[in-house]
Amino acid sequence: MSEGTAKKEEKPRKFQAIRGTRDLLPPETALWNRVEQTAHEVFSTFGFGEIRLPIFEPTELFARSIGAETDVVSKEMYTFSDPPEAAENLRRFFEAISEVGDKEPISSASNLGEKTTIGEKHLPELYRLQEEWKKSDLASLRPEATASVCRAYIEHSMQHWPQPVKLYYMGPMFRRERPQKGRYRQFYQIGAEVLEREVASGEWRVASREGKEVTSGPPQAGVASKELAKDAAVDAEVIEMVMTFFDRLELQGVQLDINSIGDRNCRPKYVELLRAELLKVKDRLGPDSQRRIETNPLRVLDSKVESEQGIIATLPHIADHLCEACAAHYAAVKHQLEMRGVMYRENWRLVRGLDYYMRTTFEITAKGLGSQNAVCGGGRYDGLVELLGGPPTKGIGFAIGEDRLILSLQESGKEVASGEWRVASKERKGVASGRHGVDVYIAWMGERAHATAIRAAKDLRKAGFSVELPPVELKFGKALGQADKLGAKYALILGDNEVSEGLWTLKTLADGSQQKLTEPQLLDFLRKL
Ligand code: AMP
Repeated sequence: MSEGTAKKEEKPRKFQAIRGTRDLLPPETALWNRVEQTAHEVFSTFGFGEIRLPIFEPTELFARSIGAETDVVSKEMYTFSDPPEAAENLRRFFEAISEVGDKEPISSASNLGEKTTIGEKHLPELYRLQEEWKKSDLASLRPEATASVCRAYIEHSMQHWPQPVKLYYMGPMFRRERPQKGRYRQFYQIGAEVLEREVASGEWRVASREGKEVTSGPPQAGVASKELAKDAAVDAEVIEMVMTFFDRLELQGVQLDINSIGDRNCRPKYVELLRAELLKVKDRLGPDSQRRIETNPLRVLDSKVESEQGIIATLPHIADHLCEACAAHYAAVKHQLEMRGVMYRENWRLVRGLDYYMRTTFEITAKGLGSQNAVCGGGRYDGLVELLGGPPTKGIGFAIGEDRLILSLQESGKEVASGEWRVASKERKGVASGRHGVDVYIAWMGERAHATAIRAAKDLRKAGFSVELPPVELKFGKALGQADKLGAKYALILGDNEVSEGLWTLKTLADGSQQKLTEPQLLDFLRKL
């Protein structure tokens, strides 16, 4: 076989997006933009500013904040060595070994997730390289963004900014989960955080007449309860903001669940009580829940296993075991939500998957999502900034799963509810082409008409209309067929006659009617629609 034939038969590899990742295509991306635009608008009316964060951070940041034992950190992160030399040196070492085909006494070594057998004499070098790899800095693609926001708060000394600091973000997150409907490995979150420097005990800052902060003596009576009331109001306002956002999007079947999971004073005692109760019924629980009795008994409350539901229903409720401060805070949050007209349901089984939450936790579900119906999760995390080496700081925030939010909007047909959204419905023409919302298709014929068409396109676009200008001359019949396929509203017909008369023909594609207009008349006509 000649070289030429071999080359011909070699089929180029067909690439596909990696499992759990996907392309977002038009016209759907218009809906994504609309959702994000609405988030910008709503969040800014609540005084939040946007923060843009790196996509990868030191692995240690996530291990320390989310918790090294959580599934997210222990199994689901995409981690790599940064700088990459250490991992690369190890890879080269294994490559060299396999090339030599060493038949010396065999030893088993495991590295980079694979088992290899190698000759004894190579072991010292292997150990040296392994050590080098362990010491190299590991970085991970972010599985969530709260840790990054806290890192940024510390890095930019935001405790000196006017408090509280209100930030929101949007962008992709990465978790190596089993992909299914509503669960991806690259997914998108829109989230917000409120961070506030904590007033040290024994010190209470008040504003002096000059507007500067001064430190007064011992805390006045009622300071603690004032702080509690303030925290509760902040929690309620954050929840109100998400609900306002969902309301603006006309998201259907929205259900807000809230709970308090106590703090470091009362939660450990409740967890121990829960563990003791769970041990009594251990034999009747499935393997996951049995394991969680040891690792994280709270997570048993999360269980969806049918046979466990009856048992879980008999377990003690955390609300009955909150310390005085947590109970007061929880009551105040509920009162604050009521004042804001936010409907909620108390759900004592609502615990969050990530370690850092305390007191308020909440989750919002929506219609049309099957088993993955949580569109938003959030809660309070006082102390997280301190855990990451920053000053004592309070925190509350949430993350919305944008993929699921979009799915739910699509399921309920909300993406076409408002004409202004410009997202084509299935019936609307132009969907197959991926284009939509074409206002004017310019059908031109002849050199002079081409020049006029280019100028007309420029002017119409400047006035905000979406214009399709065919790059080559088409017979009018063909051009009008194209305009129809693209779902254009109007066709502007420019031939020699139109150009010399200075009167352009505008065809309304829905009814086929035509009219002759001068350029200013055309703009006026379109603007009035
Ligand atoms: P979490 O950061 O785990 O509290 O999740 C907050 C929200 O992000 C959830 O309520 C989901 O809507 C969304 N989410 C989390 N993991 C995924 C995933 N793998 N795919 C799609 N959405 C997700």
